Amino acid sequence: MRLIFLGPPGAGKGTQAKLLTERYGIPQLSTGDMLRAAVAQATEVGKRAKAVMDAGQLVSDEIVNEIVSDRIDQPDCAKGFILDGYPRTVPQAIALDKMLESKGLKLDAVIELKVDEAALVKRMENRVAETIAAGGAVRSDDNPEAFRRRLAEYREKTAPLSEHYAGTGQLRTVDGMADVTAVTAEIEKILA
Ligand code: AMP
Repeated sequence: MRLIFLGPPGAGKGTQAKLLTERYGIPQLSTGDMLRAAVAQATEVGKRAKAVMDAGQLVSDEIVNEIVSDRIDQPDCAKGFILDGYPRTVPQAIALDKMLESKGLKLDAVIELKVDEAALVKRMENRVAETIAAGGAVRSDDNPEAFRRRLAEYREKTAPLSEHYAGTGQLRTVDGMADVTAVTAEIEKILA
């Protein structure tokens, strides 16, 4: 099972991807998580990506395409994977198509979580409050200003992906404003 999740920041892509990893026994590949790990380890990629990420902007296509291509080659991806936060631009989607073709792989579905953008800032604030209450570390790009820039980046660069995947016939849309279990049930119906 090879899936892509689309949707603006805070739409619940990560939450749904995590639930599906347990159900299907395949890993969630979050480019955001991979980049944050690179930043934490101060690798070359991490050093190049940090300022861009903190500003809520997108890291270059070249960097993320390479990270994803290497990750897909790992043995735990043999049964499939869930891409969360990638592709994020039309050129990334085209690179992914080529990458999968060169590896002899195909996508099973592209699932878009449709959400009300006005509700997203509130969700982000709740996520920050919950993380702090649980004693966790808050992401450096989880503040209202960076969040608004991430939403603007989404509208400009990522939203056109819906059209791209509608054109390939792979796009499935789910109401991301429903509660978590209802969204999961909708997705499972699509995948059944
Ligand atoms: P996320 O955890 O998916 O919200 O990603 C956090 C940040 O990592 C984004 O705001 C970008 O700066 C960067 N990032 C993650 N995935 C990508 C991607 N596919 N293309 C470019 N930048 C990305």
